[in-house]
Amino acid sequence: MQSGAIRPIPNMLARKLFTSDHEAFRETVRKFYEKEVVPNIEKYEKQQHVDRDLWNKAGELGLLCTTMPEEYGGSGVDRLYSMILIEEQAYAMDSSTGFSLHSDIVANYINNFGNDEQKQKWLPKMATGETVTAIAMTEPGTGSDLQAVRTTAVLEGDEYVINGSKIFITNGYLCDMAIVVCKTGNTEKGSANLSLIIVEADRAGFSKGKPLNKIGMKGQDTCELFFDNVRVPKENLLGMEGMGFMMLMKELAWERMLVAIICQAGAEAAFAHTVQYTKDRKAFGKPIGTFQNTRFKLAELRTEIDFCRTYLDRCMELQLEESLGVDAAAAAKYKISDMFSKVVDECLQLHGGYGYMLEYPIARAYIDNRANRIYAGTNEIMKELISRTL
Ligand SMILES: Cc1cc2nc3c(=O)[nH]c(=O)nc-3n(C[C@H](O)[C@H](O)[C@H](O)COP(=O)(O)OP(=O)(O)OC[C@H]3O[C@@H](n4cnc5c(N)ncnc54)[C@H](O)[C@@H]3O)c2cc1C
Repeated sequence: MQSGAIRPIPNMLARKLFTSDHEAFRETVRKFYEKEVVPNIEKYEKQQHVDRDLWNKAGELGLLCTTMPEEYGGSGVDRLYSMILIEEQAYAMDSSTGFSLHSDIVANYINNFGNDEQKQKWLPKMATGETVTAIAMTEPGTGSDLQAVRTTAVLEGDEYVINGSKIFITNGYLCDMAIVVCKTGNTEKGSANLSLIIVEADRAGFSKGKPLNKIGMKGQDTCELFFDNVRVPKENLLGMEGMGFMMLMKELAWERMLVAIICQAGAEAAFAHTVQYTKDRKAFGKPIGTFQNTRFKLAELRTEIDFCRTYLDRCMELQLEESLGVDAAAAAKYKISDMFSKVVDECLQLHGGYGYMLEYPIARAYIDNRANRIYAGTNEIMKELISRTL
């Protein structure tokens, strides 16, 4: 059995994004995954969630909410630190930890739109891992068409009363708090009816389903959330009523980048495993890597991976300058997640029958990668967005 942790093969065009401080941080993250996560992946997959204290361990090392301001428990660093965290997760071939959604999506909503009280209340506890969070948008009846959300929040006195359900919620099973997309209005303009409401998991009437039985990402606690007359104080509203859709749009480019980053690094990890495998495995008396078909396949994959890497790192530069367009980010998400699927398919083929066995990292990558083309906006929706700019 191969180890889950591997270093990627350096890209043909050297990357230029990182300083020595970034690289030192990368080393800390790499060791965390090697020591705390990789040895436990099988266990996480069996129980369908990571151990709760893994969040606290990550918090102790400063691996959660790293980009949040220092006054709210973060390290106030740039988003390259988020990129490193995601890349190291992918190089470890782990799909169990849902840190990025918590640190790079939920924390941003609170930091961008919360008032000082909300930031003080939530961000420091999210940074230590004391509070695990989720974002609940998708419902059984609607995913791509967010404006059709049916979960309602009705203001009664000083409280919102929430009714409805959400599905496919990452970190849903372990979450202590979720930002829930609710319908608070009934205007003709659907986008003006949505609000974001912070809901604590211990509120009466809030319940969770068991982790869903997915084909891959089995260690990730994706589940259903149910709201039966859940009462929360009106102070739990994030930003302003009716502005939910606008708030969800603000960081969309970044959220798509998060998926592109994990797919790029995932493809690089799958490729590195496969190059090693083709050197070790023999057929007809020689390593399978010496056959012309293998060499050409690997050359093609290396070229595709490196083309995507160059595009992605350029997007990241623009992201750091806060000038990354929604269309460029949508293109990164769809193209790189498609590329990842193609790479793992070809790499699995080069593993022969062993590639079909779950103890080989390539097999897990094959099933885990598939969701990337679906969540954070399906790849079809990405094409829709790009086409609208033409
Ligand atoms: C592992 C996993 C984790 C997830 N985590 C979260 C989470 O944390 N929070 C959360 O809120 N959601 C989460 N989701 C849900 C995810 O965001 C949705 O599944 C996704 O947005 C698609 O919605 P849907 O499943 O309802 O598909 P639908 O919207 O029903 O789409 C079905 C098909 O129709 C296509 N389609 C729809 N509209 C159009 C259109 N206008 N033009 C062309 N084609 C179209 C889609 O591309 C797709 O192929 C997760 C999903 C998965 C699988």
